[in-house]
Amino acid sequence: MSGHCASPSPPASGEEPPAGTQGGYLPLLQAANPELQPSPMTFLFHPGMLFGSRERWWGNPAPRPTLHEGLDLWLWEDVAGRAHPLPADFRVPAPLSGGVARLLPDFLGQTVCLRHELRRGDTRLYSLLGHLRPRTGLKAGTRVAAGEVLGTLAAPSRPTRVPAHLHLTLAWLPPAREAELLDWGVLGRHPAVHLVDPLPWLRLPHRLTWELPLTMGRRGRP
Ligand SMILES: [Zn+2]
Repeated sequence: MSGHCASPSPPASGEEPPAGTQGGYLPLLQAANPELQPSPMTFLFHPGMLFGSRERWWGNPAPRPTLHEGLDLWLWEDVAGRAHPLPADFRVPAPLSGGVARLLPDFLGQTVCLRHELRRGDTRLYSLLGHLRPRTGLKAGTRVAAGEVLGTLAAPSRPTRVPAHLHLTLAWLPPAREAELLDWGVLGRHPAVHLVDPLPWLRLPHRLTWELPLTMGRRGRP
């Protein structure tokens, strides 16, 4: 279950990542966090961090109540093979240009929901960036450019074993129904929403691991 996948993954299930995502998310992450710029980053993904997973990678070993609706970014490895968690003040950039559709509360902070220009039939592409502390003034209607900083990671406000991390969902949905569908209680189980595995679109250098070497999260192979 461990393999090095430093080259971009091919798009899954015939979903061709669109123009504008060809450079991937890593240059935007590094530009927003210049202190990380000198170091090539390889993201480490426990299987529970991946799209569609039934597992958790932190805390309670009980299965997730719904399949994971996106991808969790928490740990990365430098060229020397040292693992680092994303810092709590990590700045989160927009993966594509778009407009803020709404802000949603989530269990660690807030989720910024972006509506993008990409269309497929009567649906548009949305990205949801979860567990943030949005920047001052960011609100529904704000236009953002690709790479523009939306906020920083939200530090857990109460005792929890969940470390600050970025959750990223990509979804196609009809914009006329966004007020109903952009809701964590609805998004993962509504037939009008088509969730997409973010990893092929983001083109993040990565490898899979069962080992989460820090104090939080599950250790070893379950
Ligand atoms: Zn997540």
